[in-house]
Amino acid sequence: KLGMALRPLPQIGHIFQLTASYKADPFPQKINLGVGAYRDDDNKPWVLPVVKKATNILVNDPAVDHEYLPITGLPQFTSAAAKLILGKDSPAIAEERVSSVQTISGTGANHLGALFLSRFYAFPRDGGREKTVYLSNPTWANHRAIFNNVGIQHVDYQYWDPKTNGLAFKELLDTLNTAPDRSVFLLHPCAHNPTGVDPTQAQWEQISDVLLKKHHYAFLDCAYQGFASGDLDKDAWAVRRFVEKGVPMLVCQSFAKNAGLYGERVGALHIVAPTKEAADKVKSQLSILSRSEISNPPAHGARLVALILNDPALFEQWKDDIRTMANRIIAMRKELHRLLTEELKTPGNWDHIVNQIGMFSFTGINSEASKALTEQAHVYLTTNGRISMAGLNTKNIRYFAENLDKVVR
Ligand code: PLP
Repeated sequence: KLGMALRPLPQIGHIFQLTASYKADPFPQKINLGVGAYRDDDNKPWVLPVVKKATNILVNDPAVDHEYLPITGLPQFTSAAAKLILGKDSPAIAEERVSSVQTISGTGANHLGALFLSRFYAFPRDGGREKTVYLSNPTWANHRAIFNNVGIQHVDYQYWDPKTNGLAFKELLDTLNTAPDRSVFLLHPCAHNPTGVDPTQAQWEQISDVLLKKHHYAFLDCAYQGFASGDLDKDAWAVRRFVEKGVPMLVCQSFAKNAGLYGERVGALHIVAPTKEAADKVKSQLSILSRSEISNPPAHGARLVALILNDPALFEQWKDDIRTMANRIIAMRKELHRLLTEELKTPGNWDHIVNQIGMFSFTGINSEASKALTEQAHVYLTTNGRISMAGLNTKNIRYFAENLDKVVR
């Protein structure tokens, strides 16, 4: 007896169950659209050719040992990672106002960012309210748990508009405008998970104007840079624009998706401070927090990414590999849209499939239709109608489209 209740979180249980049921299903045409990882056209995990090359270099480098990294990570990794997301000519980097710390992938960056804010951020406490973060509804299933874990409550802001299968922009602006000054807003700067719906550049301008006006803090979770459009700079546009405009912010970075390094846990947290002095203080607090939690971050993945980011030839090859992944996903979006609208004449508007971006698509189908796809057609997806585009390929897309057509008709 532990003397406390141990219950699995429903969302975690749900995802595990989905994968287990998929694996146990002997049906030959079964499809797994729950998985949040890239698959190639043969439904296989893909080791990026550039990662293979970098691995070979590391394995044959006699200088590589297994000593501890510094607490805040491999410096060649954190500085190149900051340039990748903030831009190599970023004013914040030039003014040495960025505190970068290597983290356990994007999850660790979110955790460390949340922990840091829970300790040091002057949250509005109007009317005795708790420390609070605003999360999009819906959002990545782990966000709530990560913030609640460090004593930060969450409130939802509407993000998805079921009427248009697009962004609930007016509602988002309303929440930004009515939240107490200095509130913390978590935003996905590209490839929103789970909807695949991103604000346009003009909408980001308006969002950042209100953030500035209200002195809000932007907690930017960027897990898909490059993976969304195939272009690293384009996907970092909102992050860089926020820095340019002086929005108070931090950014969480992951190399799980764009480098296919899911299990290596390579990520970074970058906190943009107003001055170099403030950034130095932030860095020392971050290193104290990180020390008590992980002592030192893992070396291998950070070395791989540092090699790729700092070697011009490897960097070019990485960009090719990213385009390979992004283009395959974009091609699947187009083909699914074509099958539904032109061939099958499926009722409803399916333009959101091609307008959405990144790994996921919110199809807009209801939970009954989602369940029917699983029960009748052996297509595994979460009941919110989210599909991982990476689970579709030239061999299974027709089967999926035909069955989607059946359940919504
Ligand atoms: N943030 C978002 C929005 C995500 O979708 C994910 C992964 O699915 C992550 C963060 C963290 O991923 P990882 O910890 O594997 O980098």
